[in-house]
Amino acid sequence: MLRKIPFLLLRLTGIPFFFREVLQKKKVSIILFHDIDPDIIDTYLRTLIPKYNIISLKDYIKAKETGTVDELPPKSLIITLDDGHKSNYELKPLLERYNVPATIFLCSGIVDTNRHFWWKQDTGKEYSREHLKRIPNKEKLEILKEFGFEVTKEFEDRQALSKHEIEDMKNMADFQSHTVFHPILPNCTDEEADEEISQSKKELEEKYGFKIYALSYPNGDYSDRDIALAKKAGYTCGITIEPGFNSQDTDLFRLKRASIRDGADINELLVKASGLWWYLRKMMGQ
Ligand SMILES: [Zn+2]
Repeated sequence: MLRKIPFLLLRLTGIPFFFREVLQKKKVSIILFHDIDPDIIDTYLRTLIPKYNIISLKDYIKAKETGTVDELPPKSLIITLDDGHKSNYELKPLLERYNVPATIFLCSGIVDTNRHFWWKQDTGKEYSREHLKRIPNKEKLEILKEFGFEVTKEFEDRQALSKHEIEDMKNMADFQSHTVFHPILPNCTDEEADEEISQSKKELEEKYGFKIYALSYPNGDYSDRDIALAKKAGYTCGITIEPGFNSQDTDLFRLKRASIRDGADINELLVKASGLWWYLRKMMGQ
């Protein structure tokens, strides 16, 4: 309850509306969800559709390349989902009903298998997820192994979308890359990072026939080296989870995006989607 109050109060001030409607009208927002319940996203979409113009990531990239971002609909908003959780399949009827596009970033080595997302592995009290995100990738994998996890291990249950589900959604969803196994790229060696970035694009293009142009950095983490590798692999853009808006001038490999908690209520959604939340945090030096 406590964490909900600031969002409620902020929304009631009308500032988020003013912020988005007036100050940032020409800019493009990108929002991020993960493993989201279809009923919740249904409510989100019904809230966002009247307030924003939902466009595809491709529309923005095209406009950026032709220097026409200013001509995009005002208050453009792009919906993205990271990881390729199997629950994303349930969004298909919603995307169809509301006729809105979404970009789903897939881990090419996890979709269509019973392999698991590493951060869902229980590692007891000893190793927190945050700790595992900070150490070298090899070290992380060694620790996970002690708990019975390996990136290529096939488990009983499936966590990610299957090939059939991906193909069934491809008319509404734009599938792009989120690496192969979702490592924290700056914690990888040059070789590991190169493999994760280039293989994912290759696998998704070969297996599904997609044109992969966008990379969503796992956990939003990247370094200059990772950007160079993404460029070398042939990506057109890279997406962070750094707050802010996107315009004609935004660096294509540092696109800004607002991550919204899967369980956020409508006030939090609107305050975060408006960009106000990040602006306030920045002002407060956080
Ligand atoms: Zn992710």
